[in-house]
Amino acid sequence: MARRLFIAGNWKMNLGPAQAAGLALELKAALASNTALDVAVAPVAVSIPAVVAKLKHSGLHVAGQDLHAEASGAFTGAVPGEHLREAGCTYVIVGHSERRQLFGDDDALVAKKVKAAFRAGLLPILCVGETLSQRQAGQLEAVLDQQLSVAMGGLAADQAAAVTLAYEPVWAIGTGHNATPEQAQEAHAYIRGWLRGHFPAFVADQLRIQYGGSVKASNAGALLTQPDVDGALVGGASLKAADFLGIIEAGLAARRASRS
Ligand code: PEP
Repeated sequence: MARRLFIAGNWKMNLGPAQAAGLALELKAALASNTALDVAVAPVAVSIPAVVAKLKHSGLHVAGQDLHAEASGAFTGAVPGEHLREAGCTYVIVGHSERRQLFGDDDALVAKKVKAAFRAGLLPILCVGETLSQRQAGQLEAVLDQQLSVAMGGLAADQAAAVTLAYEPVWAIGTGHNATPEQAQEAHAYIRGWLRGHFPAFVADQLRIQYGGSVKASNAGALLTQPDVDGALVGGASLKAADFLGIIEAGLAARRASRS
């Protein structure tokens, strides 16, 4: 089944409102005639309104980088999904490895955040992936099983199908060492098999699985033509329009070539 390509840029803790608005305008101009794929950018929370304003009527989506599990309350410094939605986000990244490693987001909290995203009317981009030591210990499948079963186990099938999964091997994030296309395909195929075993068939058919970890224009084509790789979650290379657009162009060109 053909799944529409979905490329998202995670700007992490970079680009305040003015710079973020500038990058958003560059992307909007370059992608004005885009109908071939879905694109989202995830600015730092305070930059979201400026980016939403610039991307109005562009078809490009804005995502939060994280959300609190609750809708409101005494949680100083936190941002609930409801506010992201009100500000104009359609997606929210959940369970990024930086959240898991640096902020203590464990599987149980990630599961709550996935539910909170749906409660707020946001679509989660749920990140999963193994560390280098887990991979070397042969635990890739066990890690994916654990992360998927806790985060997705309680979802109704129609919600599960609306999740975007991002397979992000932790050892590939920000390191310049991307997974090979074969390693990515192997993990994505395993994830799709897991979905087949836990939900009705349409979930595995529809759900998009992005690859994330040192994606750049030079490796995007080979990664994005793997049968179970439906897009990319891009960190460092999403911070400059030319780099991010290069990934999009390389991915689209390689897909066109592989189908002709
Ligand atoms: C990420 O942070 O999700 C990511 C994939 O980063 P990078 O592309 O820089 O490896």
